Amino acid sequence: MRIDYRPEAAAAPFRFDMAGGKLHRTGCPAIPRASSQALYSVWDPGEGLPALACEKCQPVAIESAHMSQDSSLDIIYGFLSIVDQFGSVLRERGREYRNSRRGRRLAKDLSGMFSALDQTQQDALQLTLASLDGLVK
Ligand SMILES: [Zn+2]
Repeated sequence: MRIDYRPEAAAAPFRFDMAGGKLHRTGCPAIPRASSQALYSVWDPGEGLPALACEKCQPVAIESAHMSQDSSLDIIYGFLSIVDQFGSVLRERGREYRNSRRGRRLAKDLSGMFSALDQTQQDALQLTLASLDGLVK
């Protein structure tokens, strides 16, 4: 099972380990061998998700000014393709993660981020979540 078939994905600076729920720098020695087929190439991890960062390689958001405007859309499509392929696994994994210590910490961060959004942004987020829900179903 390979998530991202694009050859340029190998050059991405980060890898998200979907099995372990952690974001690593590419080539981090802490990436478990068992996760090698569950890695998703990430160009821009964004900010506000420190709870997912690997303690060993400590990935941080990079300046993304040079990235094309399409990259956000690519990320959304990439994310949707994962949900489309692995919806039921993700849901189960998400349920476990939500109840973990790290998950509860992330929930606090997310609700802080959510409350900082204005109404239009909150509406857009709700629409995205509703779309994801529909896609999973
Ligand atoms: Zn790492």
